[in-house]
Amino acid sequence: NKQVIFKDYVTGFPKESDMYVTTTTRELAPPQGSKAVLVKNLYLSCDPYLRGRMSNQPSNDPDFGPFTPGSPIQGLGVAEVVDSSHPDFKIGDLVWGNTSWEEYSLITAPEGFIKIQHTDVPLSYYTGILGMPGMTAYVGFYEICSPKEGERVYISAASGAVGQLVGQFAKLLGCYVIGSAGSKEKVDLLKDKFGFDDAFNYKEEPDLDAALKRYFSEGIDIYFENVGGKMLDAVLLNMRPHGRIAACGMISQYNLEQPEGVHNLTTIVFKRIRLEGFIVFEYYHLYSKFLDFILPYIREGKIVYVEDIAEGLESAPAALIGLFSGRNVGKQVVAVAHK
Ligand code: NDP
Repeated sequence: NKQVIFKDYVTGFPKESDMYVTTTTRELAPPQGSKAVLVKNLYLSCDPYLRGRMSNQPSNDPDFGPFTPGSPIQGLGVAEVVDSSHPDFKIGDLVWGNTSWEEYSLITAPEGFIKIQHTDVPLSYYTGILGMPGMTAYVGFYEICSPKEGERVYISAASGAVGQLVGQFAKLLGCYVIGSAGSKEKVDLLKDKFGFDDAFNYKEEPDLDAALKRYFSEGIDIYFENVGGKMLDAVLLNMRPHGRIAACGMISQYNLEQPEGVHNLTTIVFKRIRLEGFIVFEYYHLYSKFLDFILPYIREGKIVYVEDIAEGLESAPAALIGLFSGRNVGKQVVAVAHK
């Protein structure tokens, strides 16, 4: 059983060498009388929150707590049940949920898995558009942003797993949508593939405030926050009265030992801005409603999704680290085995 092992706790930027790939020969089978299942992992999801689990910071939720040095990385993935002692899971069932970065995983409490019912779409989508990032975009935009037709929407890290969907949702509603991303290739995707009204490369903008003023001469109604730091500061100067900010993530801060300060917070008062953080895991009761909403759009080609699929477990450490330098173009997935 090939595995990606977490070496030891990380401070600062994570490196590929914080993980290594090894093979164990331990026999894996659900013990008699247990409710365990054995799954074959097909696709693993590289997500920014995994960086938090590489630090030695306790969490109340074991799915968010620190990794155990010497044990496999854990995260979300798509898998096939290959052996089962659980009455609700049978061999051949396809599931997504928490698994480990290895070829086969013995799952002792499989009740947390969501069974995959729709297989006319790529299975890897359950790590992205049909999984946690898709739900994040849906909840963040529709539940947190209170969007209205015609509003001016700005999205940072806009070509990523979450951002590309937020922009498409906003366009479907008839909003004016601008995104930023870290390369020309990504900016082109935003404009040509996802239908954003315009996009810019934030790395080529020495003055983010001036860049935002160029695209939002009348200000921003909705900011979908994925990066934090200097970008948030510049956005605060450009929000319209009663604007809304969905604080989804702040990836620019995750590897800093001292988070950057934000200077323009007083604008929140004078412009009466609503800034609201959210965590997608509190909204999973909306998952079936979300599937009913998004599947028709996917089937009709009205929403598209770009994935960056790295082949093989050996490529997983580099794929995960690449999120923090922007190497991924679209949703970063690791294909362990194809179905
Ligand atoms: P992405 O697919 O967007 O990958 C991360 C991207 O972030 C990179 O490709 C890079 O794009 C950008 N980035 C990396 N470092 C920096 C930096 N220092 N400054 C600016 N941009 C940077 O990831 P996701 O779509 O999965 O996640 C997007 C955000 O949403 C993250 O902040 C994540 O933590 C958050 N999130 C929150 C959830 C919640 O429940 N609240 C759930 C899921 C995600 P580029 O080339 O454009 O710089």
